[in-house]
Amino acid sequence: MKPHMRHAAAVRPGARILPGQARSHNRALVLQSLYRTSGLSRADVAREVGLTRVTISDLVSDLIDERLVIELGVRSDARPGKPATVLDINRSGFTIVGIDLSYDAMFRGALMDLDGTVLHREQVEARGLTGDAAVEAVRSLLDRLIAEATHPVLGIGVGSPGVVDAEGTILSAPNFGWSDLPLQAILAAHTGLPVQVANDANVAALAERTFGDGQDDMMLIRVGRGLGSGLVVGGVPVQGARSAAGEIGHVVVGTDGGQRCACGKDGCLETWLAIPRLEARLAAEGADRDTVLAESGERLGIAIAPIVGALNLAEVVLSGPSELLGGTLLSSTAETLRSRTMADFHGNLALRMTTLGRDIIVLGAAVMVLTGQLGVS
Ligand SMILES: [Zn+2]
Repeated sequence: MKPHMRHAAAVRPGARILPGQARSHNRALVLQSLYRTSGLSRADVAREVGLTRVTISDLVSDLIDERLVIELGVRSDARPGKPATVLDINRSGFTIVGIDLSYDAMFRGALMDLDGTVLHREQVEARGLTGDAAVEAVRSLLDRLIAEATHPVLGIGVGSPGVVDAEGTILSAPNFGWSDLPLQAILAAHTGLPVQVANDANVAALAERTFGDGQDDMMLIRVGRGLGSGLVVGGVPVQGARSAAGEIGHVVVGTDGGQRCACGKDGCLETWLAIPRLEARLAAEGADRDTVLAESGERLGIAIAPIVGALNLAEVVLSGPSELLGGTLLSSTAETLRSRTMADFHGNLALRMTTLGRDIIVLGAAVMVLTGQLGVS
């Protein structure tokens, strides 16, 4: 299935800007309108972004020189006057590299076109790798991907577990033994290409917004070896005071204790939901599958009800193994949310699994590159 674009205006007409930024702002507006709608002429773009025909022709001419925009030919409709030339963003003329560090045993990567269509995949063994060895594995995965690219690489996006700041420094990723690791700068120096590194759940939230059906006020919860979430409020991804917004995995749920967590506390949300924990509880002697899944779903509902309430979210999306998360667990979470929030304001909340499957992180990495390099999303 080819994901389709929806939503998302990284750059909005009418936003307040300084005069010196006007040209790059206008350029991003042109690219954004061509990215979101196919079959536009220069006149259509001028109308859509609210700039003069002359300004648009000038910008488009530069973009054609850079090969970012192409002319598809003359429109065949029967309008009066000179037939218009149809433009498009050069969707297949550039490659985006996406890297997903969120799996246990493998680092996964993909080459994509500007639509997020996956053209090639690579993976490298990563089980048990920490510190410099883990960084080396990322470098070698990147080298293998770039060697396969048949078009110029627009940029590289990486989704990593842990707390990641706005400069792509991993402040803390305990599973890799990384702290204050400037991964973005390391990979940019290694490849000489634009690189963006962000938290995996935040990256997944970007994918859901652009390629899924993600709404303006949503939370994406990523469940794997651990648990994290990405928050979007009013269409804007939330970073938080110390880049750790959405880090709900080590928030204790309830006052009744629970299993000991790797962080030293008892009953963290992760101890209820992380896949290895969930699998262990399902495998325990005498365990009833539905009871175990319902219990975990209830804990998730208890943990996120105040977040849904405080932010008045429209949607909560789960990403992870759907055979575990999708059935009993999801409906138990929904039931718990219903009983703990205000029906009038939170009753329309949509709770669902993502439709993007296991490519969600590499797709989100593509969104980061599109936004960072072209101003489109
Ligand atoms: Zn914990």
